[in-house]
Amino acid sequence: MLGKMMHKQLTIGSLIEHAGRFHSSTTVTSVETSGETEHVTWGDIDANARKLAAALGRLGIVQSARCGTIAWNNRRHLEIYFGVSGGGYVCHTINPRLKPEQLIYIINHAEDQVLFIDTTFVPAVAQLRAQFTTVQHIVVMGSKDADIAAQIEGVLFYDDLLDAETADYDWPDLDENLPSSLCYTSGTTGNPKGVEYTHRTSVLHTIGGNQPDGLALRARDTVLAVVPMFHVNAWGTPYMTAAVGAKLVLPGPHLDGASLAKLIDAEKVTVALGVPTIWMGLLQGLEETGCTAESLERTIVGGSALPTVMIPTFRDKYGVDLVHAWGMTETSPIGTLNQLLQKHNELDAEAQAKLREGQGRPMYGIDLRIVDDGGAILPHDGETQGNLQICGHWVIDSYFRAGETALTEDGWFDTGDVATIDGDGYMIIRDRSKDIIKSGGEWISTVELEDIAMSHPDVAQAAAIAAKHPKWDERPVVIAVKRSADVTEADLLAHYQGKVASWQIPDRVVFVESLPLGGTGKVQKNTLRERYEGILLD
Ligand code: ADP
Repeated sequence: MLGKMMHKQLTIGSLIEHAGRFHSSTTVTSVETSGETEHVTWGDIDANARKLAAALGRLGIVQSARCGTIAWNNRRHLEIYFGVSGGGYVCHTINPRLKPEQLIYIINHAEDQVLFIDTTFVPAVAQLRAQFTTVQHIVVMGSKDADIAAQIEGVLFYDDLLDAETADYDWPDLDENLPSSLCYTSGTTGNPKGVEYTHRTSVLHTIGGNQPDGLALRARDTVLAVVPMFHVNAWGTPYMTAAVGAKLVLPGPHLDGASLAKLIDAEKVTVALGVPTIWMGLLQGLEETGCTAESLERTIVGGSALPTVMIPTFRDKYGVDLVHAWGMTETSPIGTLNQLLQKHNELDAEAQAKLREGQGRPMYGIDLRIVDDGGAILPHDGETQGNLQICGHWVIDSYFRAGETALTEDGWFDTGDVATIDGDGYMIIRDRSKDIIKSGGEWISTVELEDIAMSHPDVAQAAAIAAKHPKWDERPVVIAVKRSADVTEADLLAHYQGKVASWQIPDRVVFVESLPLGGTGKVQKNTLRERYEGILLD
């Protein structure tokens, strides 16, 4: 016999319903593509999301149909998140920085029926539109505009669609296992693959991620989501802020350090989330603008390894706590977060800081293990490196339209990362398996070499790659961006002395103006490998 409690479906609609009912006057700040800043409330977002869901029904869109977005972080995008998913459709966020052929592939593979686009992307979409095989409606996220109407035949305008509806739409009581949103991985090798989240996995990720040793967002926080809404649902920030009723700040298209520094001060942001390259920019932006970031208590940093030197810089100069997190598109994304345990209270500040450099521990809802290449489970001793595998309530089962499982025979997902896990469950990413350098049969961590390079005061950014070597197969080469013109290759090589074993010291350092960044702000190491892998053969 089953228990005797209510059975409520865990749905995205229930999140925005809660925000609309209990946090209706809390502000959502949106920097618009035009540059203007709009202040609305969670009540407005709920009302508009309901209107949008009604409008999609009126357009004849059927349940679980995909509705794509090509958009920045702004309030209409937030309304689309809730209106599309809450209404029973699938919100497919698309990275606008993809190449045209990837955009076409993803939109056709997802079979998007509606495409919501920011005005920025009107020219690109006008050009590619003929190649979208399933798109029935293109909706520009703004008010009517004759110029735009002339560029895209039959285009609809978001504000018109909503003006024709009322906000008395009731969120449907959907089966929590229905799909709610879809994100594609960046596909550095081969075609991008889709990860389709369900209402249930998204809500469990929201509850799990909001635990005190997770992102710990509170109603009294002001949360700046710098991580794009097209990158794994902005790490779930829209859902988590709706669940707790925090003030949400959406920064629009300008993510340079100076714009973010000003926004943090103007909106009194307390928590901000983004990839490390964003925070490097912010540090520079704070210096340039003289902004103080006084309100900022912590930043959640993930998506690629955190240069450890950033931790003391933020702490000592700005009083900001950096919380390191790890995850991937396939894990919704939060897998681990680095917070201390009770026993660490006794450690001094330096030892505590050292512990927090790693990627952290799994929260309730997630399990981790490491295995060797044959699949044998390896010890959690903090030393043994292995292939990181994950399972849990918000982890992928199979890729969108793939037909076959993405899991091992015993139900774990292989992350493609190489990691150690210690006895307390603290995990450290040593490398991605495709990036790690195999020199004479020994492994060298590119993450570690990059971290050392970036701890040099005159180096702004660095990426380590495997270059081909006639004797050792592969040897490390570091590609770096200077902070000061004075630094030389010899200086940086000397900086490695004593920090790693001598055979791990890079063979060469090449200085460049900038590193190639992918759509989500991560360094594109495959591009660097193509360019520099032959450098030791000449
Ligand atoms: P992609 O980078 O392929 O677009 P994801 O955004 O899903 O896909 O990235 C997931 C990968 O990013 C992880 O497998 C891991 O290699 C890397 N990553 C994420 N967070 C961290 C972190 N805190 N430290 C090191 N690597 C990280």
